[in-house]
Amino acid sequence: MPDIIQLLPDAIANQIAAGEVVQRPASAVKELLENSVDAGARRITLIIKDAGKSLIQVVDDGIGMSETDARLSLERHATSKIRKTEDLFTLRTMGFRGEALASIAAVSQMELKTRPADREIGTLIYVEGSEVRRQEPVAAEVGTSVSVRNLFFNIPARRNFLKSNSVELRHINEEFQRIAIAHPHIAFTYYINDTLECELPPGKLSHRIVSLFGKSYQKQLAPCSEETDLVKLHGYVGRPDAAKRTRGEQFIFVNNRFIRSNYLHHAVMTAFEGLLPEGAYPFYTIFLEIDPRHIDVNIHPTKTEIKFDDERSIYGVVLAAVRQAIGAHNLMPAIDFQEDVNIMTRLEKASSEQAREIYFDERFNTPLQRSNLKRWEELLDTSTLAQASTQPVRELRFESAVNQPDQPTAVDRWLVQLDNRYILRQVRAGLMIVDQQAAHERILFERNLDRLMNRSGESQQSLFPQTVEMSPADFALILEMTPEIRALGFRFEVFGRYSFLIEGIPAHVNAGREKELFEGLLEQFKLNQATLSLPINENLALALARRASIRSGQPLQKEEMASIIDQLMACRTPNLTPDGKPTFFIFEFGKIESYFSRP
Ligand code: ADP
Ligand code: MG
Repeated sequence: MPDIIQLLPDAIANQIAAGEVVQRPASAVKELLENSVDAGARRITLIIKDAGKSLIQVVDDGIGMSETDARLSLERHATSKIRKTEDLFTLRTMGFRGEALASIAAVSQMELKTRPADREIGTLIYVEGSEVRRQEPVAAEVGTSVSVRNLFFNIPARRNFLKSNSVELRHINEEFQRIAIAHPHIAFTYYINDTLECELPPGKLSHRIVSLFGKSYQKQLAPCSEETDLVKLHGYVGRPDAAKRTRGEQFIFVNNRFIRSNYLHHAVMTAFEGLLPEGAYPFYTIFLEIDPRHIDVNIHPTKTEIKFDDERSIYGVVLAAVRQAIGAHNLMPAIDFQEDVNIMTRLEKASSEQAREIYFDERFNTPLQRSNLKRWEELLDTSTLAQASTQPVRELRFESAVNQPDQPTAVDRWLVQLDNRYILRQVRAGLMIVDQQAAHERILFERNLDRLMNRSGESQQSLFPQTVEMSPADFALILEMTPEIRALGFRFEVFGRYSFLIEGIPAHVNAGREKELFEGLLEQFKLNQATLSLPINENLALALARRASIRSGQPLQKEEMASIIDQLMACRTPNLTPDGKPTFFIFEFGKIESYFSRP
């Protein structure tokens, strides 16, 4: 038998590779723009005609290429960006596969014009379907211009497969947006069919967002940032009330590369939980910087998927940062509360480092926590607090003039809900501001925990038992925790392979959404696992509290507000959420007075 295996001619191999790299005009746009970014351009112009079907041109003022490099850049696996395997792990550039130009050249009529700063004269190369038709010296600006005409001219099936101009243009716009956001310091000019589509001056990220999406974004952006050993995060999130019904303005970048991640999207949405109308998507632009050693960008040729080795921690960081941004942003009134050092922020400071241990710290079981419910406001009186001789509370010192024992004891009973999120109430020391969701979480957490400890969770039977299917890993996790979950008040049985039949849920939770509750519990449990290291009991108690608590945004009756505050004061640790955030603080009279300059 004769030998039949042959190496493919380059042109064919390139065409095959092109199928992966260049799916549509937008993919070529992306590759060309990224090359310009990698070339250190300060200004990039994108010119599109006929939705990229007749022309895609990218002009930059980057480092350009020598004659030899220009020729080589069109070869497959020709790249200036990595030289050895290790480079793959320290990647900082957008490209690295050395496939883009070769692939685009294989399926179009491409003209490359380029000049590096140290040459007088530039190079022009004209390629058609991988064949170099012309190469000559040419007068050119420093930088590179690549024109791609008649994409897929030699693959009619591909060309016919392209969608309508409006669809293809939408894809191009998306790619353009992503790169423009990721590189606010680069000036961009964008023409569509000879009309100027947009002109983006170089500047800060916030400016770039506003010039891309419009002036109205100026007011709705909340900055977020966070830094851990693993990851550095910065970016902006939009106000919940400005969220849109369509997706498309959600951006996550890892080391300046746009990525798609349902997992991290979920983290953001969780942070917005309870604040968004059903089916609305908030604007966000989040940049993560991670040592490239901890990620693998190589899993997909178009590179919008990415693998992290510690996905869960990153989830936790994103969640925390966004949550923080939303909170801080909505709380940004004319008065800067941050500056305030009041009772509770001090108490919180004193205990925040120990917050995790505090859950059960017997020392914390002070008269403050065992308070007589009906007269809890007395306990909030500074003089009483100062006398309480237990460790965390002893940290408190009160220099304030409010400390006057002969103050009237009758406290006005007014109770107000602010913005459907906070409960305001006068107490002896001043104005008490309670975060309703945080407070309710603390209350439910302690109750759930008691149920778990005493195995005493009461259950309500479901009218219609529901089955819940899950992954083998989740199934195993639930099996492992069955006694604990039952103790909370859930009734369920194994029901076939990897599924459970939910027959009852805890008595104190609203019925009707058993399946969601059960799944939510599991999800929250796993999330807690990722972000806090808690023992199973605490984690479960917290997970259910999170799922079942009153939300921010929920209007409350006066009795409900009163009851929340009463129950909160009966908690062992009323001042902190289970994960250590404040549940309330007191805006002291002294401080209020100081705002009116009357010491
Ligand atoms: P990659 O970007 O993965 O290296 P490409 O095929 O996109 O592969 O580009 C091949 C090489 O051509 C790049 O490594 C770079 O050296 C050079 N190159 C491409 N575009 C430009 C540009 N706009 N300016 C300067 N050099 C470029
Ligand atoms: Mg490239």
